[in-house]
Amino acid sequence: MLRKLAHLTGLLTLLGTAPALLPVAAQAADYLVPFPAHHVVANIYFVGTKGQANYLITTPQGNILVNSGLQTTLPMTKNSIAKLGFKYSDTKILVISHAHFDHDAGSAQVVKDTGAKYEVMDADVPVVQSGGKTDFNYGEKGGENHYPPVKVDRVLHDGDTVSLGGTVMTAHLTPGHTKGCTTWTLKVSDGGKMLDVVIVGSPNVNPGYVLVGNKRYPGIAQDFEKTFRVLKSLPVDVFLGAHGDYYGMPAKYARLKAGGANPFIDPAGYKAYIADRETAFRKELAKQQAAAKR
Ligand SMILES: [Zn+2]
Repeated sequence: MLRKLAHLTGLLTLLGTAPALLPVAAQAADYLVPFPAHHVVANIYFVGTKGQANYLITTPQGNILVNSGLQTTLPMTKNSIAKLGFKYSDTKILVISHAHFDHDAGSAQVVKDTGAKYEVMDADVPVVQSGGKTDFNYGEKGGENHYPPVKVDRVLHDGDTVSLGGTVMTAHLTPGHTKGCTTWTLKVSDGGKMLDVVIVGSPNVNPGYVLVGNKRYPGIAQDFEKTFRVLKSLPVDVFLGAHGDYYGMPAKYARLKAGGANPFIDPAGYKAYIADRETAFRKELAKQQAAAKR
């Protein structure tokens, strides 16, 4: 699946036919497909769709929602939260993986519905507050990339923590995919054992991303370099991400249903994914560097 996705991404870039409106072309159809809500580990639950991952992190003082998803998928997320026995209205804090419409277009509605505090990494704040219009790559493309703007309640900086009811999440700046792309980590207790959870923001160079001589994002290549350094340095037991594809969610869900060991505990899968994505980045960078010299 990963290789197939990487291949498709490479092919689209090669042909110069990257669809303008879709941050991750190969997953487009999956955004809108409902997926069963499920328990991941400890107080973490999956409430996203087949192609887009939202997580509910529950605490005795209310809940944290990671990613609002699209406006059109918000009813699915609300349904998932209810099915798990939690209340959408208990959402106290909303955070995102990064400021692309598939993760944040529904944020204005979530804030309006629940009064949740919206906490966003500094470099993604202008994008969120402009409703996607200032994104370096998709800002001028319009369509789905534009969504209702929403005011950020708290600006996060690299290493800041978000706390609620005994749960502490750390926001790691992993830029490149967006300028404020955020990888979230938290420690959870599972059957008396402490586990490190990582929710990968995105290590992906999307079709059409300019890595060499990008006037709207001059530091993009160095930022991706930083991201891989950070991602490789994180301790990981439970591997999650902004899209289910990152961690093979549908197959792991099937294993979860079958019983046995928790399939989301997958440090080896994490390492393999990050290595695969770093290779893809380096290949694309080398290609663009060679083309720039011609
Ligand atoms: Zn994205």
